[in-house]
Amino acid sequence: MTVLSPPGADVAAWLRCAGCGETVYGKRFARELGVCPGCGLHTRLTAWQRIGQLFDDGSPVPIDAPATVEDPLGFTDSRPYRERLREARGGTGLDEAVVCVRGTVEGHDLVAAVMDFRFMGGSLGTGVGARITAAAETALADRVPFLLVTASGGARMQEGALSLMQMAKTAQALAELDEAGVLTIGVLTDPTYGGVAASYATLPDVILAEPGAHIGFAGPRVIRQTIRQELPAGFQTAEFLRGKGLVDGVVPRAALRPAIARLCALQRAAAPGPAGLGGRPSRLVLRPERLPERDGWTAVQLARHADRPTTLDYAGSALEDFVELHGDRLGGDCPAVVGGMGRLAGRPVVLIGHQKGHGTRERVERNFGMPSPAGYRKAARLMRLAAKLGHPVVTLIDTPGAHPGVEAEENGQAWAIAESLRLMSALPVPIVAVVTGEGGSGGALALGVANRVLALSNAVYSVISPEGCASILWKSQEAADRAAAALRLDARELLLHGVVDGVIPEPGAGAHTDPAAAARRLAAAVAEALDELAIHDPKKLVAERRQRFRRFGSPL
Ligand SMILES: [Zn+2]
Repeated sequence: MTVLSPPGADVAAWLRCAGCGETVYGKRFARELGVCPGCGLHTRLTAWQRIGQLFDDGSPVPIDAPATVEDPLGFTDSRPYRERLREARGGTGLDEAVVCVRGTVEGHDLVAAVMDFRFMGGSLGTGVGARITAAAETALADRVPFLLVTASGGARMQEGALSLMQMAKTAQALAELDEAGVLTIGVLTDPTYGGVAASYATLPDVILAEPGAHIGFAGPRVIRQTIRQELPAGFQTAEFLRGKGLVDGVVPRAALRPAIARLCALQRAAAPGPAGLGGRPSRLVLRPERLPERDGWTAVQLARHADRPTTLDYAGSALEDFVELHGDRLGGDCPAVVGGMGRLAGRPVVLIGHQKGHGTRERVERNFGMPSPAGYRKAARLMRLAAKLGHPVVTLIDTPGAHPGVEAEENGQAWAIAESLRLMSALPVPIVAVVTGEGGSGGALALGVANRVLALSNAVYSVISPEGCASILWKSQEAADRAAAALRLDARELLLHGVVDGVIPEPGAGAHTDPAAAARRLAAAVAEALDELAIHDPKKLVAERRQRFRRFGSPL
């Protein structure tokens, strides 16, 4: 933004947007939180402007800054470091490139470390490292969520290797919050680079980024000079990184405060005791003889019905305050697996499921619910988050199978599925899985190693699709109906063989005829299962889960 008229105490200046060249009235610009109303450019904020935008009025209280050695190397380039520090302090009114406060956001307690790019490019030196560590320790002591808002060019050269060590120090501080189960939230703003990006900026449980923010390790100029290639469009922008599964969401500035408040609300542990739906028992069927015998092929058709509710449908209607999280933090965000945090009958849960989508376009985008390895790795990341926060995991299974393809093989599809089975076998929180549609092979089981496995009454679960089985064993796809019968894949058979522990009756002619009622029944059954599991300690949960799967194949 270029100031076009000198700002007086109460006189709004006219500003020109550096993005689109539009002239913006100063007061309007402030009302828009520093975002250009014309092109949406998110301009850089000072630390105190940011704190003012995020926190409840009057709530932020600065956290005492620990003492650090100033200019530890006696550094001088064209000018002494001490002189640069003095200038930065005079220009910003801050003593360092970060401001740490404790306060409330929509009533939720929060500790925050907010960087200010004006102070020597938001560089990370010993002063910044010490302040961030002290803020993290405050969050740890009081078990209050910790927010990091970053804006930085990287480590501060003027403090040499001591600056470099701040990366390890701050990463350790975040590791301690992980061990204590304290939620960490990152907001990456323009620009976030180098040693800051490679330490505390990218370690939080949930990483949000402002639209258009540039984020990376090496700067684009360095990369271009090194590889001597043109960089892809949108390279290192928040949107680019969201597509690569490295940030959970790109959130416009105006939506940051409510997003942070929502996440803080989900950090809170569940109230002790049953959190079920007012003691009303679910309609869960536990005895196979109470279910009708049916033709397997009919069940397959119903399980695949294009209008069946999807995981996101259930997340929207069975959960309160669902926040979708994205990415495996390794380079991918698979659209065929979705997940996030929300509340089920008052209890915070992590929900993960296959996502087929509705309509041809979405089904194609979602790859018909066939996950890539990135999908299972996203699920794994969210399960680890659940374990950290002590939240139960609820998985919804509905996939024809893991995606068979060149890229999936290159990225280790088998490895990703196997890793998921092992992770779920050891997860120290309750897990409830529901087969909501097609339980297709290993790609389904990869989300299915649970303490309780339920199925909707029109769901199927099988080692292979009936078509696949028919073409291999009958040498003809025409025999799919016979294969479906032989595989005993419908809900009644699954209950009979103990593959599922209970069946949730679908309303009317199937879940697709009354999705709201289906969601209510699913929520009631899952809440009931979570109530039963809530009394177990982590060791017992893991032992019971392993026992459940160990017995398969043994005589009943
Ligand atoms: Zn603009």
